[in-house]
Amino acid sequence: MQNQQRTTEQWRQLDAAHHLHPFTDTQSLNQQGARVMTRSEGIYLWDSEGNKIIDGMAGLWCVNIGYGRKELSDVAKSQMDELPFYNTFFKTTHPAVVELSHLLAQVTPAGYEHVFYTNSGSEAVDTMIRMVRHYWDVQGKKDKKTLIGRWNGYHGSTIGGSSLGGMKYMHEQGDLPIPGMAHVEQPWWYKYGKDLSPDEFGVVAARWVEEKILEIGPEKVAAFVGEPIQGAGGVIIPPATYWPEVERICRKYDVLLVADEVICGFGRTGEWFGFEHFGFRPDIFTTAKGLSSGYLPIGAVFVGERVAQGLIAGGDFNHGFTYSGHPVASAVARVNIELLRDEGIIDRVKNETGPYMQKRWRETFSQFEHVDDVRGVGLIQAFTLVKDKSKRELFPEFGDVGLMCRDIFFSNNLIMRACGDHIVSAPPLVISKAEIDEMLGVAARCMETFERKLKDSGLV
Ligand SMILES: *Cc1c(COP(=O)(O)O)cnc(C)c1O
Repeated sequence: MQNQQRTTEQWRQLDAAHHLHPFTDTQSLNQQGARVMTRSEGIYLWDSEGNKIIDGMAGLWCVNIGYGRKELSDVAKSQMDELPFYNTFFKTTHPAVVELSHLLAQVTPAGYEHVFYTNSGSEAVDTMIRMVRHYWDVQGKKDKKTLIGRWNGYHGSTIGGSSLGGMKYMHEQGDLPIPGMAHVEQPWWYKYGKDLSPDEFGVVAARWVEEKILEIGPEKVAAFVGEPIQGAGGVIIPPATYWPEVERICRKYDVLLVADEVICGFGRTGEWFGFEHFGFRPDIFTTAKGLSSGYLPIGAVFVGERVAQGLIAGGDFNHGFTYSGHPVASAVARVNIELLRDEGIIDRVKNETGPYMQKRWRETFSQFEHVDDVRGVGLIQAFTLVKDKSKRELFPEFGDVGLMCRDIFFSNNLIMRACGDHIVSAPPLVISKAEIDEMLGVAARCMETFERKLKDSGLV
């Protein structure tokens, strides 16, 4: 049974009548009408008007395996026929979740043998928050409750996740953050590095974490949490010195180190996990998105040896979701991970398509007058729209020109995203070199249009 066939106009009208979109100004969307996506294959989407669109964002940073993999729909169907649901609360388990857990223990580095399932990244983050606080309770350190995140960090939309995250426009709605959350500035060299080299700045930015720990008091700090590369915050790639220094500081004050791997996890950087790229070892890491390549909702919290043993010794953990370890999502995630591994997709990102993308990305965008800080690793990349390159000067209303640029890409059937004035991209990991050339060819033409429009608008 397919969806009912309607005209684009009918879909738009019904959508406007009944559907409240996330992170959206509904009134202005409804005036324009949403674009109706109907079909997908590989790195491409099609809309209801028949336009073929290059998806430079892998859906929402998640369709790592690419669209249209029959292996995933096949296993979903057979799992639904066999055991569509059973819970894992009351002394039961099932083969789908057992096999997934076994496989995940193989693709993670040694020492991450335990995993707790959720339905999303936000729930993974909330689970982690409760886990960390419970862990310290079990250790008898009942004051260790505060979690430190970063301004502009993104850890989801639940009350816990958005409090830990540092999106001020989210905090403004719903009286957030909740108590017990603190934030430090992001390791964004271009804006805050001034005369320091990136490596010098990386150490300085890590010391902001130390200052915050000392300000709160180490006996009250439960954990520091960060995305290895900040995604929604604008693909902020910290200097190589940052994470090792953060790790040293966390160890020094006995603060747990948590990596939010919801974007970096499952191959985005060319390694299985972002912490492997940067060379540190978190105590816990949260995942979702690439775990199932977005084919079904599932998230997972990976728990390192120390915290796992503490939790296991601590008796009941009074937390869980009806769909924790959902059989169909688990089966789909397992096949997704097997395909990523057995087809060498992540190795190819590391050795072939990642380096090619990074070289071509720099060649394509560095030439533009209002583009700077062209950056990336693996298949996650960005550049920043700037007023004056020679002074590293950003536009005064951060985000306005980003949106203008994004809209030009979108109307030319290329999806990239604007995070403020950072233009970011994270295509499916299966993108080929020819498809990279195609994508950047379209992007270059859009950038010419953008710079013309910028001049016409009087903003520069
Ligand atoms: C997307 C994201 C989340 C939230 O995941 P949802 O599945 O949308 O709840 C959390 N952390 C990071 C780093 C993310 O990018």
